Order: sequence, then structure tokens, then C-alpha cells
Amino acid sequence: MTSGYPLRVDAWSDIPGLVHGFLGRAHGVPAGPFTTSDVHDALVRAGESPRAVAASLQVHGIAVLSPEDMPRAPEDGGVLYAAELPEGDVWVSASADVVLTIRTADCVPILLVAPRAHAVAAVHAGWRGTLDGAIEAALAALTDRYDAHPEELSAAIGPAIDGCCYEFGREHFAAFEARFGPEVAAAWRRTNESYFLDLRSLCRRVLERAHVPGDAIHIVGPCTAEHPDELHSHRRDGPHAGRQLSYIGWRS
Ligand SMILES: [Zn+2]
Repeated sequence: MTSGYPLRVDAWSDIPGLVHGFLGRAHGVPAGPFTTSDVHDALVRAGESPRAVAASLQVHGIAVLSPEDMPRAPEDGGVLYAAELPEGDVWVSASADVVLTIRTADCVPILLVAPRAHAVAAVHAGWRGTLDGAIEAALAALTDRYDAHPEELSAAIGPAIDGCCYEFGREHFAAFEARFGPEVAAAWRRTNESYFLDLRSLCRRVLERAHVPGDAIHIVGPCTAEHPDELHSHRRDGPHAGRQLSYIGWRS
């Protein structure tokens, strides 16, 4: 199965010029300090050839970044953006020749595409970012900047820790229910002792609640915690776990 990486959405192969994928640990980046060049190199090793790469320091926030707001770094021959990594967990773009990336190891990588508007987004959605509104921030930015509305979006929710393995949230459950409504309870599995959260199911509900069509939301890849040969997992491997890359953009 490792040879199946990068994982992709079959239905997106019809979208002209779209580049996207979810990489496994074979093309990961370390947990520690990294540069945009490291991310670029990992994508090249995986067989992609992006001219420019956008990467950030992820902080479980809701700030929206766009390569269109950032200068190209002349020392890199215009190939890479931002030698100094910006902080943020949501990327949006409609530009050709730049690939948006996020790094995860249990949190949910979400890729969004609006073909008509030629807009894409990449979201790092852990429980905190999801609760605070990272997904809605991406949808609002796509609408405001590119006139790309939720009804015309397609979403890919990549490998993340699932409800089978993610014991979490007894103390946070009420906050999610207050924020997203009682139907969010279906994302939790509750035993007498513990609560287990299915983060990807939660993200699907948040997207649907924001009017992204359910049949345009694709769950891609397995539970990170259960596939040590394929995927990094923070819950399984601890703070030194590597990170896998997810990416989306347009060819020129
Ligand atoms: Zn699992």
C-alpha cells in the first residue's frame, strides 16, 4: 500500500491543471525546524515539480495565509516563497505555479478546490483549530478573495487519527456541541470510561454545515495511528514523530 502514495482523489483527475496529493512517511519532514526548501525537496522526491512552495509554522490557529500576499525570495531564484516561515494553518491561492502545503501527524489535512474560480485551499485542522474556526476561515477566504462559494467546492480529508484510536474530548465535548450543534455528537464514540473523537467525521460535519455538498467531500487514506509503516502519528510515536505533507496547487 505504501506504493500508493501520494494518495489522491480520483474524481479530481478531471480538473485541468490541478496538482494535489497526500504523502506518507516515505516523503515526510522531521518534527523539528524545517525550511520551505525541505518541503520543496520532499515534493520533488515524491515526483512533483512545483516551481514554488508555500509552507508555514503551524500554530493551531485560524489565520489565513496566501502566497499572493508574500514576496518571492530572490535568493531562491523565485522558486520558493518566504525563507522566513509565516505562522498560520490555512492557505488559499488562485495562482499558477505555487503549491500550498501543510504538515500533519494525526491532525486533519484538508484540501479544497473550486474549479470554476480556479481557487484552492489547504487547512491544518486539529481539534483546537476546528473548534476555533479554521475550516470556516478557509471557506470565508475562498468566498471573499475568489468568489468561490462553499456550494461549488470539493474537499479531500486526508489521513488523520480516527475514532478507533483517538481517546479525546470528554472535557471538550460540550464546547463542540455548543459550537456546531447536537449532531456533532455522532463524531464521538463514548464508552463508560472514555470518549473517542473521529476528527475526520467532525471535519466532514463542519464542512457540510457550511454548505459544502456531502457528495463532494472525500475521505482519503487510513487512520494514521494504525499504519506505522505508512504514516507518522503523534499520538502513537510522541513529540518526535515526523510529519507527512499534504499539498494542492495549480500548474502554470
Ligand atoms: Zn485507528
